Amino acid sequence: MNLSEYEGYVGIDIGGQSIKVGTIRNGELVTRDIETPPDYANARAQMIAAATELVGGKPKGLGIGTPGPIDWRTGFLYWTPNIPWKNVSYPELGDALGCPVYVDNDANVAGLAEAVLGAGRDYRIVAGFTLGTGIGYFVVMDGHIYHGKLDVEGGHQVLNPNGPLCGCGARGCLEAYASASAIEARTGKEPEDIDDPAFWAEIAGYLAWGIVNVTTLVCPEVFVLAGGMIKRGETLFQPLREKLAQMLKIVPPPPVKPAELGHRAGVYGAIVLAKRGHKAE
Ligand SMILES: [Zn+2]
Repeated sequence: MNLSEYEGYVGIDIGGQSIKVGTIRNGELVTRDIETPPDYANARAQMIAAATELVGGKPKGLGIGTPGPIDWRTGFLYWTPNIPWKNVSYPELGDALGCPVYVDNDANVAGLAEAVLGAGRDYRIVAGFTLGTGIGYFVVMDGHIYHGKLDVEGGHQVLNPNGPLCGCGARGCLEAYASASAIEARTGKEPEDIDDPAFWAEIAGYLAWGIVNVTTLVCPEVFVLAGGMIKRGETLFQPLREKLAQMLKIVPPPPVKPAELGHRAGVYGAIVLAKRGHKAE
C-alpha cells in the first residue's frame, strides 16, 4: 500500500467509545486515540490538538467519519444515538485548523477506505455491506462515495414486505434478517457463539439475495463484506458465492471479498476523504 500521497492530511474516525485521529507519516499510518468525551467542547479541543501535533502545524485537509444521521453536504450533526453531543458543526473544525474539511457517515468512510486502499483497490465500482448491529451499505465510484439525494441504504432493501419488523420501521429489510441484532433476536445468541454451518448458510442466502439486488441496480465490479461476521470465513463466503451464482443470471456475479483493513478502515477512509473530498452530486 503506497500511502505517500496522503502525507499531511488528517483523518478523524469518531466512535462512541473512542476517537482515532490519524495521518500518514513516512508512508505509515500514525494515530492518536482519544477516549470519546461526553461534551463536544472537550472533544473539539483534543481533536484539534492531536491533528496539529500529528502534522506539525496546519493539515492539508481534514476528513471526518462520524456516526449519523449526518448530512454530508453541510457536515452538521444534530444528534446521534451513542454519543451525547448535540448540534455539532464539523466544518468549524476546518476553520479552526485552517484547512478544507469533508464529513461523511462512518460506514461510507470505512467503505471508501476498502474501495481505495483495501479489498476493492483494483476496481473502479465498489459496493459493500458492513455487517454489525445493523447493515451498513456503501457504493464507491472512481474513488468517491456515491450518496444519491441523501444516502444509499442497501441494508434496508426489502426482501419480504411481510417479514420481521426492522429498526427503521419497515418490514422484512435485509437488516431484519442478517444483522447481528436480528440474529440475536431470532436465536437468543450472539453471532460469534453460533457455529452451525447450516445457520450460516441461511444467513449467506439472505446476504446473497441482497447482493443480487444490488448487482441488478448498481452492477459493481466487486462486492466487499466488512464487519465482525466475516471472521466466519468460508463458512459464510462459500455458501454465499454458491447462492449468488444460483440466483443471479442476467449478469455475472461480482467477486465477493472480505474487507482487509479491519478497525483501522475508519481512520484510513477519513484520510482518503481529506485528500479527495466529495464529488458534487
Ligand atoms: Zn429497515
